[in-house]
Amino acid sequence: MSEFPDLSEVMDALIATAKRCFVADLQTNAGGNLSARLARRDAIVIKPSGAGFNECTQENLQVVMLDGTILPSEVALKPSKDLDFHLDLYRIRDDINAIVHCHSPWATGYASAGIEIPCLTVQTIEKIGRMPLIPLSANGGPQTEVEISPVFRDPSIRAAVLANHGTIGVGSSLMAAQYLAEIIEETAHIAYVRDTLMAAHGKTSADLPQYGTAAEARASVSSTAKA
Ligand SMILES: [Zn+2]
Repeated sequence: MSEFPDLSEVMDALIATAKRCFVADLQTNAGGNLSARLARRDAIVIKPSGAGFNECTQENLQVVMLDGTILPSEVALKPSKDLDFHLDLYRIRDDINAIVHCHSPWATGYASAGIEIPCLTVQTIEKIGRMPLIPLSANGGPQTEVEISPVFRDPSIRAAVLANHGTIGVGSSLMAAQYLAEIIEETAHIAYVRDTLMAAHGKTSADLPQYGTAAEARASVSSTAKA
């Protein structure tokens, strides 16, 4: 596909990211999916349906135009069944160049309990701010672009959690989206440990400190100094 000079490079990066998800236990089996935008901006590479993160190859990855046209691939697999929400996010957010969607267990546990994962560490407040919990579709099925895109129309949203389903991290690069997938899972794990310990020790949210970002802390110090 000479019309995509960076295709091989992007495919290799996507394969490496997928393997990192598998090794980090963010995604086993053939679930989840990930994609990356090509330099031409009007096409993406996406994991095929039915292949696991650890089995992505240059031959089975799929190239899809943003208008939905699926280009022929060496291995006759369909693109991920979540293709439509990936395409829509690239259409509505020019800053998104990669999407990593995993069914990672700690985060999906929160999502299945109907609880939004709290941004409870200094890192999550700085890097994410908020991870909205997106409900199932109105007919009770898995989320599609109908539920997902409105949340990501807010340009400050970079991570979200799908009820009874999994996580979404978006970024300017595959590595940025991957880091978010990892931070979402890590934060869910930390939140579970915190809440379990607080319950065991009879603590309530009133016992927790209030804090914000480093920028907010600096602003507060400088306004105090000026006062
Ligand atoms: Zn999924």
